[in-house]
Amino acid sequence: MIDGKTKLVALIGNPVSHSLSPLIHNSAFNSLNINAVYLAFKVGREKLSTAVEFLKDVDAIGANVTVPYKEEVVKYVDLLTDEAKEIGAINTVLFTDRVEGHNTDGKGAIKALEEAGVKADSSFFIFGAGGAARAIATTLAMEGAEIFLSNRTEKRGKELVKKLCKYGKAKFVPLNSEYLYRYLPEVETIINATTVGMDGKCLVPENAISEKHVVMDIVYSPLKTELIKRAEKVGAKTITGDRMLLHQAALSFEIWFKRKAPVEIMETALKGVVH
Ligand code: NAP
Repeated sequence: MIDGKTKLVALIGNPVSHSLSPLIHNSAFNSLNINAVYLAFKVGREKLSTAVEFLKDVDAIGANVTVPYKEEVVKYVDLLTDEAKEIGAINTVLFTDRVEGHNTDGKGAIKALEEAGVKADSSFFIFGAGGAARAIATTLAMEGAEIFLSNRTEKRGKELVKKLCKYGKAKFVPLNSEYLYRYLPEVETIINATTVGMDGKCLVPENAISEKHVVMDIVYSPLKTELIKRAEKVGAKTITGDRMLLHQAALSFEIWFKRKAPVEIMETALKGVVH
């Protein structure tokens, strides 16, 4: 029940109305009788710093930050984790006497991979160089992964690969079938971290996936993207986008409340809405 002691956890972004985070987190708060409420706020760019200040001033516990502010909001925090610094973006804020910036996207993806038996220090082919791809690739590279990365805008992809090389082996691969057929068989796991898949399309040629691959798509709407369907068809192990969504949320919860997240409750809430 909401009363005078109820604490706030917020989502700031634009748009936010489609977000599944309020559902996931409020189900967690309810199950543990935490007197808090998670609300989504659509914030205009010019009001981003005001929104962060306001949340701090009203003693909010924390916040999630989503598209398009994950990078810009970095300016308004006092402290960044090493990972967030490397990624250059945050999705989680904790208000203490300071404003802390964390990024749980990369670690959430690693948890989703690990529960499917994939080790972080193995080999990956990542599609994308946007916010999510940067978080996943950087976190994996920091854990010792070997990474092949492809992106439609080559400049963006190459810049990311240059940063990844600081940690280990990383190579940019042009996004065309000739190169994909050559390099995809060299990796254990393929990750789509682009928006392609939301539109029924797929960047991975059909017969470039084998049953030896693990295939992860971080797109969760729809859950069965064309990539996941192609992977299932050849008998590859698949990881759908709801797994990363669940684990990044659980990690944010743990940052805010310093206790284990009720992952099963969060998972049940999510299962009711993603298909
Ligand atoms: P973003 O920053 O806008 O990046 C979009 C990426 O997709 C870029 O690499 C972009 O390439 C690529 N792309 C877009 N259209 C393309 C096309 N037609 N052909 C080839 N590449 C294309 O987005 P984001 O925040 O990284 O999110 C990416 C996806 O991940 C979204 O669907 C989002 O919902 C999902 N996501 C899921 C989770 C989860 O927990 N499961 C978490 C975060 C995000 P260019 O650089 O060439 O533009």
